[in-house]
Amino acid sequence: MDQIKERIDHLRKTLAYHSRKYYVEDAPEISDFEYDKLFYELKALEEAHPEYDDPNSPTKRVGGVALSKFEKITHTVPLKSLTDVFSYDELRAFCSKLEAEFGALEYSVECKIDGLSVALHYEGGRLVYAATRGDGTVGELITENARTIQSIPLIIDYDGTLEVRGEVYMPRSSFEALNRQREENEESLFANPRNAAAGALRQLDSKITASRKLDIFLFNLQLCDRTFDTHIETLEFMKAQGFKVVPFYSKATTADEIIAKIEEIGRMRENLPFDIDGVVIKVNSLARREEIGEGTSTPKWAVAYKFPPEQKITRLLDISIQVGRTGVLTPIAELESVRLAGSTVSRATLHNIDFIHERDIRIGDFVTVQKAGDIIPEIAASHPGKRESELPVYEMPAVCPSCGEPVVRDEEAATRCTNAACPAQLIRNLIHYASKDAMDIAGLGPAQIKLLHEKGLVTSVSDLYTLKKEDLINLDRMGEKSADNLLAAIEASKTRGLARLLFALGIRQIGEKAGEALASAFGDIERFFTLTTDELCAVEDVGLITAENVVNYFSHPQTRALIDALKVVGVETAMTAPTKMDDRFAGMTFVLTGTLPTLTRSEAEALIKQYGGKTSSSVSKKTSVVLAGAEAGSKLTKAEALGVRIIDENEFRELLK
Ligand SMILES: [Zn+2]
Repeated sequence: MDQIKERIDHLRKTLAYHSRKYYVEDAPEISDFEYDKLFYELKALEEAHPEYDDPNSPTKRVGGVALSKFEKITHTVPLKSLTDVFSYDELRAFCSKLEAEFGALEYSVECKIDGLSVALHYEGGRLVYAATRGDGTVGELITENARTIQSIPLIIDYDGTLEVRGEVYMPRSSFEALNRQREENEESLFANPRNAAAGALRQLDSKITASRKLDIFLFNLQLCDRTFDTHIETLEFMKAQGFKVVPFYSKATTADEIIAKIEEIGRMRENLPFDIDGVVIKVNSLARREEIGEGTSTPKWAVAYKFPPEQKITRLLDISIQVGRTGVLTPIAELESVRLAGSTVSRATLHNIDFIHERDIRIGDFVTVQKAGDIIPEIAASHPGKRESELPVYEMPAVCPSCGEPVVRDEEAATRCTNAACPAQLIRNLIHYASKDAMDIAGLGPAQIKLLHEKGLVTSVSDLYTLKKEDLINLDRMGEKSADNLLAAIEASKTRGLARLLFALGIRQIGEKAGEALASAFGDIERFFTLTTDELCAVEDVGLITAENVVNYFSHPQTRALIDALKVVGVETAMTAPTKMDDRFAGMTFVLTGTLPTLTRSEAEALIKQYGGKTSSSVSKKTSVVLAGAEAGSKLTKAEALGVRIIDENEFRELLK
């Protein structure tokens, strides 16, 4: 038995050593194959001997059991934010103000990583917990997720109390891979690595976090039994403990020196494998920091210099037009490729014709393209002075590039194709209709839809339901099994219900929530053909513009034809009357507000009706119960004022038992 424990300890130490070599020092000593062999040996031993389980074992880096929520924790040392400066003048003012009061100072200069701040707490040489910054005072415990970050040491040599602060970030390569995968799955893309890192770090299932390949740079020693003279000494100490410390830190003694270092970091910026959004300047001496002191939310001895958005000048080669699902024509700049913020940019949005005219952007111009935290670059300015000859003013095409029908310009500067049979719109409509949150037809992605449309098999949403196996098998690379699966998925989509159908139809401004609200308010799609804007506006969360869009959509003869066709093929277009259970809620009126943890609004309403109760949209003295979820607003306040009984979803479920 002792031999087994010894082997386990040896393997854990060896794996931790090689992890550090690989992920922190970037100097691996063994191949991935050798590493994996040791890893699986350890895993097998741990499985056979659960008595030697250890949460800090290298095998725990793949994630574990999912949590139901994150626990809160009050930070031992608050995670303060820094004062931002946006110009060299402001930076000089910061230095001269400090130096006037405290004499000559030494500063540390380091990159500001664009990620999320976390604190890592160690006791007895072991990682005890990891927490997000939260509001700086109270954060959330994300220990399981932190363990999946390979460069965070789980065991360190120093065995006193130690807390370090760092920035968790998503390397650009992981970010690009993640967005590529999301694009393939038709999921919304993350705007930037920072948002993607935030999403990954706050996953309740640490296995998902593990798959997102996060990394960390440590930049502050929050708490330690040992004393140090300078900030840079603390960084060296952390490095010696196996932490991955923020790169390119150095010392400076004057504002000019600091600025020279900022310029140097700025030049490296676009080629770094991670995003930085500035440079942090701190007084290096810890004793001096004490003298200088702290403000309420920020220390007085440090500032963050923020880089302006990255910009490049390039040539606008052409303007192409994209036709969106709602028929809007969006002008897209086709650019001579430039490297910007770590990626190659050859297209940028031009929004609409007003945007183009206001900036006097013409085809052939030199333009400034910028990326400011967003994934889609934008044209910030044109440079008419650089024109070699007079260029024509750009105008939007008079006809839709997809169907050739005349376009109209609406009051919001948008140019729109109103032809309901426009192929560009039809394809995007079909993609939306089949998407996961709408009718959820698995296996019917954009590629299949385009193909079905090209072959003339699908020219309307209702055509999906008349597809036959032989139609599909003749399509590119579709086998018998996939064809069967697709037909089954199409069949299953018939019973998604009215709420999903209203969303799936792609009516302007009708999202998932509005679809649900409208479905439970009116119950049957037939009602929508006669509704007035007033009736629609009476539904919670439905505004006048949404109401007008609904009335407009259902006034088109094509809509009548489409709904009839969907009914013929058997798509559910009305809410099914719930089976009556018993009368326990008889005579009771419920009001729903906020978002419930698991039930949708229409599900909760259906349950209330099943047990003989009624629902109302406003709180009064006659209201029996208010069922409140997260972000409940004025209805909750009113219920409290009137003394109406308020319950949450758990209590509601108790009532149903
Ligand atoms: Zn068109």
